[in-house]
Amino acid sequence: MTHDLILKGGRVIDPSQKHDGILDVAFTDGKVSGFGKDLKGAKEVRDVSGYIVSPGLIDLHTHVYWGGTSLGIDADEFCRVSGVTTSVDTGSAGPGNWPGFRKHVIEQSQARILAYLHVSHAGIYGFDHRVMVGESGDLRLMNPVDCAEVADKNRDLIVGIKVRVGLHASGEQGTAPLNIALQVANEVGMPLMCHIDHPPPSYEEVIGMLRPGDVLTHAFRPFPNAPATAQGTVKPEVLAARKRGVIFDIGHGKGSFSFKTTRAMLANGFEPDVISSDVHKLCIDGPAYDQVTTMSKFLCMGMSLNNVIAASTVNAAMALKRPEYGSLKVGSLGDATILTVKEGKFNYEDVVGEVLTGDRKIVSEGVVLKGKWWHPKRTSKFPKVAA
Ligand SMILES: [Zn+2]
Repeated sequence: MTHDLILKGGRVIDPSQKHDGILDVAFTDGKVSGFGKDLKGAKEVRDVSGYIVSPGLIDLHTHVYWGGTSLGIDADEFCRVSGVTTSVDTGSAGPGNWPGFRKHVIEQSQARILAYLHVSHAGIYGFDHRVMVGESGDLRLMNPVDCAEVADKNRDLIVGIKVRVGLHASGEQGTAPLNIALQVANEVGMPLMCHIDHPPPSYEEVIGMLRPGDVLTHAFRPFPNAPATAQGTVKPEVLAARKRGVIFDIGHGKGSFSFKTTRAMLANGFEPDVISSDVHKLCIDGPAYDQVTTMSKFLCMGMSLNNVIAASTVNAAMALKRPEYGSLKVGSLGDATILTVKEGKFNYEDVVGEVLTGDRKIVSEGVVLKGKWWHPKRTSKFPKVAA
């Protein structure tokens, strides 16, 4: 047998290869081993006609340090049902509690987990219903020396440095934590992901400090600190940052995504580079829910299905600087997500309570992880066909 598994006859949308059409995809030894018409010779062949096959979805902003931080959710539980094969944790851990994240969570999980390491010593340690303490508000917690050392020693899993600035996250320290995080990112040669909330600092100030390849998360947040002006235009500093190569990530979460901002940005032709959920304990039951729900919001607001999938696959892989992720090219990681787009009437909510009734919903129907079926619904839907 040439392959372990073939997915036959699906509509394969792989923006990394600019492909959208009926094809077969094959997997062997945990990698993509075939991409073409009429692939043959596998231990298992499944008919996925009528479904969309995309590269395994990447959720670039999640919190999955379950048990080690109060905002963490269980990565496997979440990923398995919502079509995500790579969950990128963004700063739940800092250098002071990284080893527990690595040993007790990442190495025990089936889903792929990559991480941005927080520059603050214990990551996001005070984020819960009854306790909300910004970890960047006290500069004594900034730990650039250990952050650089831990990031350098864990390059297999750590993809960048995380920092949170804004009234809630950094209080009176403003952009000082961002300055420190940038020094670490420069020292280790990694990108930075920066969170923004209420001013100060201003959106313009933060975006002006980011380098090409750095990620601004919560990019389409509501007023104040929205990327659009009251007149509905895109702020000039935002346009300049995109031109410079700063990556705009959604990071929906419980306070960081609004339909009003998104309408203004899309009306100006400014689509996000990356769509991510920022799923954590306080938003998994709404308004963010998960990655496919966040993607559905953009589909309903006018982004094309291909661009929505690109924003959760190849574009996220580009932000991670890992081209073997988010692609079905032969030799890439053997991850795929099987999707359908349901038609009907679906209500979506943003973080300021606006409800949008959309006509479509992206649903995860199946997941292939490391070349093997992983999604709980798999067998009944995709009949086995003769190998
Ligand atoms: Zn977050």
